[in-house]
Amino acid sequence: MSIDLLHPAGSSQHKTIFVPETQSSGPWQISLKFSFSFGPMTGTATLEGTSIGKQISGSTKFCLEGSGKTLPPLPTDFEGSIQDNETKIDLWINEPLLKHTHFICCGQAVIRKERFEGNWDMPCLDPKDCACDGASGTFELRRLGQES
Ligand SMILES: [Zn+2]
Repeated sequence: MSIDLLHPAGSSQHKTIFVPETQSSGPWQISLKFSFSFGPMTGTATLEGTSIGKQISGSTKFCLEGSGKTLPPLPTDFEGSIQDNETKIDLWINEPLLKHTHFICCGQAVIRKERFEGNWDMPCLDPKDCACDGASGTFELRRLGQES
């Protein structure tokens, strides 16, 4: 029997559950590519948190830079799974403009258990007044190496 962190029972996202077999995973680095009107930017975050089997969750900082700009790191929560051959990570960035939505990153292994590539999707930020299809781009996830 496994515990599905992505679909916890009840409505609370941050329920405390007793889990006997937790272990550290990674750390991993996730990089999302963005193309803005002024040019490209890359958002990176280190994912290091509690893992249960192939599931991982925790808090990190999202650092957005490129095209001559560097934004202050944004506090971000993440949750998802890193399988041998595929990954799905959700990022919730705690910033006023972005806090109503999240990034959904789905990728396939380029190097099994080590490196993944795929696409991120984000629903429209303002479904009431904008109603576009949201945004999307590419991302990669790579293992930063085992802690010694
Ligand atoms: Zn929109």
